[in-house]
Amino acid sequence: MWSTIEAKIARGERLTTEEGVYLLTDAPLLEMGALAHEMRVKKTGSKFVTYVIDTNPNYTNWCTVDCHFCAFYRKPGKPATDGYTHDVEGVMKMMETAHQLGATTVLLQGGLNPEIPWSFYTDIVREARKRYPHITPHFFSAPEIHQMAEVSGLSIKGVLEALYEAGQRTLPGGGAEILATRVRKRISVKKGGPETWLDVHRAAHQVGMRSTATMMYGHVETPAEIVEHFDYIRALQDETHGFTAFVPWSYKRGNTPMESKVKHIAGANMYFRVLAASRLYLDNFDHIQATWFSEGKKTGQIALYFGADDFGGTLFEENVHLATGHLNKTTIAEIETLIRESGFTPAQRDTEYQILREAEGPSALENLSAEVPLFVENMRELPAEYPDQLEGEELVNPK
Ligand code: SF4
Repeated sequence: MWSTIEAKIARGERLTTEEGVYLLTDAPLLEMGALAHEMRVKKTGSKFVTYVIDTNPNYTNWCTVDCHFCAFYRKPGKPATDGYTHDVEGVMKMMETAHQLGATTVLLQGGLNPEIPWSFYTDIVREARKRYPHITPHFFSAPEIHQMAEVSGLSIKGVLEALYEAGQRTLPGGGAEILATRVRKRISVKKGGPETWLDVHRAAHQVGMRSTATMMYGHVETPAEIVEHFDYIRALQDETHGFTAFVPWSYKRGNTPMESKVKHIAGANMYFRVLAASRLYLDNFDHIQATWFSEGKKTGQIALYFGADDFGGTLFEENVHLATGHLNKTTIAEIETLIRESGFTPAQRDTEYQILREAEGPSALENLSAEVPLFVENMRELPAEYPDQLEGEELVNPK
């Protein structure tokens, strides 16, 4: 099947579901990485790897949704000394901190807290736009948009139109996890099926926003369900062309309700496989994001040879992974060094992947071709790894 896939990619033909599953399970990893890198070079050129200066604060950690993979939320009605909800001025303090740090994007999210009035959401967008016009308010995941619809009585589209009117132009892709009904029933049953996430992003694109498509893998999903996820977002991209990028990361299990149920941690090998498969399968996405943050800096560097063209953000503040015990920090200078060491020229981008600044100084391998460098070729080929499936009963009462 590998030679068929190579031939189809060379002809610019779309891969099938069966071929997608093969990429995630049996395709030769290094050859797949080389092919994905070649496709990335054709789409975006070989010189730059982009990154954004951003931060990910949160306005509340109270949440009624009980996702089994989440260590971040506090449950209303249960005592928690560290539960919080910020008001508009509290959010503006976060914007000021972001401004002081030079951020151009603030990715703000929160738990689903029914106590927060509808006006809060439009107010923070409007105030952020007014006081910090140079920072893009990249606010609210799809489940929060549903929460706003519930609180306001507006439709999903009505909520997004109001946010657009307040100044919001982009939406982050959080809340997708794996877009497959069986998986969502097992890990985040209150969020509904794949259509709940897809409907928000479709409506966001219709009102003129761009958004990212994300994926959190490495828990209870099968390879076929990852491809189902790919199929949903590829089809929506065909329909709207509203996605800027695809951003995958692995599940971090520390302190989460399903921590003891997921026995296998998806490692670097699976990350490279997911990235390369996504580049080859999501043929209508311009940008695939690898990150120093969730998979580690060295893994992130190598991932730049598996189809990714973007290195994510500086993430000056991050609390969701932190709650699982995952801590990783960087600086702008270090991100640029990591990109340079990998053989590319760093370029700072905005939320919509437009380049703002090319970093000065030569790249270590200025004239890098589409070929895979030696250090990747020398990596030992490991078998495709895949987490064990959850055994036993449905998870219904995590906290
Ligand atoms: S992932 Fe989001 S929606 Fe789910 S429990 Fe955590 S804060 Fe709530």
